[in-house]
Amino acid sequence: MQLYNTLTHKKEPFSPLRDSHVGMYVCGITAYDYCHIGHARSAVVFDVLVRYLRANGYKVTFVRNFTDVDDKIIARAAKEGTDEATIAKRYIDAFHEDMERLGVLRADVEPKATEHIGDMIALCQKLIANGHAYVTADGSVYFRVRSFPRYGQLSGHNLNDLRSGARVEPGETKEDPLDFALWKGAKPGEPSWESPWGLGRPGWHIECSAMSERYLPLPLDIHGGGQDLIFPHHENEAAQTEAATGKPLARFWVHNGFVQIDTEKMSKSLGNFVTIRDILAQHHPETLRLFLLTKHYRSPLDYTRTAMDETETALRRAYLTKAAMEEALANTKGWDPGNLPPEVVVEITAIETKWDEAMDDDLNTAAALGHSFALLRVISRLLEDKKLRRLAGTRDLLRHALERLDAWGGVLGLLQRPAREVLAELRAVRIQRRGINTEAIEALVAARQQARQAKDFARADALREELAAMGVSVQDTPSGPTWDVE
Ligand SMILES: [Zn+2]
Repeated sequence: MQLYNTLTHKKEPFSPLRDSHVGMYVCGITAYDYCHIGHARSAVVFDVLVRYLRANGYKVTFVRNFTDVDDKIIARAAKEGTDEATIAKRYIDAFHEDMERLGVLRADVEPKATEHIGDMIALCQKLIANGHAYVTADGSVYFRVRSFPRYGQLSGHNLNDLRSGARVEPGETKEDPLDFALWKGAKPGEPSWESPWGLGRPGWHIECSAMSERYLPLPLDIHGGGQDLIFPHHENEAAQTEAATGKPLARFWVHNGFVQIDTEKMSKSLGNFVTIRDILAQHHPETLRLFLLTKHYRSPLDYTRTAMDETETALRRAYLTKAAMEEALANTKGWDPGNLPPEVVVEITAIETKWDEAMDDDLNTAAALGHSFALLRVISRLLEDKKLRRLAGTRDLLRHALERLDAWGGVLGLLQRPAREVLAELRAVRIQRRGINTEAIEALVAARQQARQAKDFARADALREELAAMGVSVQDTPSGPTWDVE
């Protein structure tokens, strides 16, 4: 598999350093608010990477942290008149709820910063001892950036350029404007812990260096996160770890792209901030998951209403085909002998090869999804052909294709559930989103059925028109009419 490495600016063949065991660390959320669609993208992308590595026979130890002490958490706690632990717990619980709905697997280890204060202090002590960090009069500890000549290697920043843009804020006690805090001396009203430098709390970056080293051997095979973390967060993590241990923090640095809202950058100040919960009030969680994988993970992803509607249609079509496949296998009595035309077999084989190639090419889920849908189109064409659909060769293909879809869906976290169940949920989502009154529709459908039975076809047609105008279509089946919302 080729994976793009931010550190080297190119795709490189990926294999773990230790046999077939991958150590992967991804920076998790700061727990001070509900997660937005950008968090969802990062979580889903790395979830697919873990699933794909496991599907390829690797053992993966996946660590994703929670930042549960930070300026934003402290500010939120102060605003609500509560403590930081309450705030952090609330939003960590909300994260788990959101991720469960999106089908994101739990990480193997989900460490919290406040549970690793000792590890962070030990790391600071190491850095002070070897000259890469220093203590200031207010009991803070800073990383001495100029002591680490490779600073800037990950983000491509040049130390001189950085220095010209930096300045020491009033009240700061550091030697150099580029130096960053590993440990912050306590301020009144803030949570603090005992340390060799008095009461204080950790800076943000040190926690990931401490927790990654605690749970995984260095260098990590993969260190991931959103592009916004490359600088300064990941640059600082890399500098701390290497300065303290002499080992590089990670071999592969993998970063996912931003989510934009209607082609604009998402931000609270622009008022176009979309949480996972906002979206799931309007859409099925699997629609959101599918949407997040429709673009290559490094490309920007544009969240728009149209894109979500199109994604929902695609998901529904996929489940309809899956349902038709399952029903054809269950209900066809006596398959006709005969194989499929060779060109169909060639087409299917080509699709399968391309699916693997796409995923091996830097986790190109967009292309892999295209190939999955291509497979479904071939199958639905076969099922529409009265002669071909009864062939024993079709039966074998249906079994094989369901197996494939199951394996691919297992990697992408899609199309895993019983088709009829998801189709009913998707219908409920459409009904709710359009504010359709189910009882009123049922009454119209029943009135139409009565008119049909009374052979009053003019009235039956008029009622069908009335329903159609509301976006409701009626299908007459042997067991009576059913209706759906387009
Ligand atoms: Zn981190």
